[in-house]
Amino acid sequence: MSRAYIGLGSNLDNPLAQLRHATAALANLAVTTLVATSGIYRSRALGPGEQPDYLNAVVALDTTLDPLALLRALQAIEQAQGRVRGERWGARTLDLDLLLYDDVVLDSTELTLPHPRMAERDFVLYPLAEISDTRNLLPGAPDLATLIERCADNGLSHTGWQLGQ
Ligand code: ADP
Ligand code: MG
Repeated sequence: MSRAYIGLGSNLDNPLAQLRHATAALANLAVTTLVATSGIYRSRALGPGEQPDYLNAVVALDTTLDPLALLRALQAIEQAQGRVRGERWGARTLDLDLLLYDDVVLDSTELTLPHPRMAERDFVLYPLAEISDTRNLLPGAPDLATLIERCADNGLSHTGWQLGQ
């Protein structure tokens, strides 16, 4: 059994419902158990042009799917929730990023682990810190508390909502 952390984001078509629906889909994956869910955060869109704010959260899964099988399962859930792949970093109904898979380090065209941009993203680090042991989480990187201290303030806020309710 491996522990995986998934980052969820949505800024289209009722983001709160998108995140909750995706969480239910993750909990229903074969040979996978949903073990923890973070609170829901609001972040400003980083991508091109004017975009609505995002809602973001992180969940922890225990799974025997291998990393690539898990990535493909995440992409299938994105597709099922109407994701259209357009402009890079454009608005989307659902983005599911595989942040960490145990302490696997991987760099292939399809999958990079840990997720290459997670250490600079406050909307990943804060929810991740809620549901994980903050020490030695990222292979070869400072602990989560240090990454959070270093992270630029992009106006992240907690909505007060939880994924699980
Ligand atoms: P982004 O999340 O950066 O906005 P996408 O969700 O469109 O972009 O993903 C682009 C590509 O990133 C996918 O085709 C996927 O194969 C690749 N990718 C590489 N590593 C990861 C990872 N750890 N989690 C999710 N996707 C990844
Ligand atoms: Mg993605």
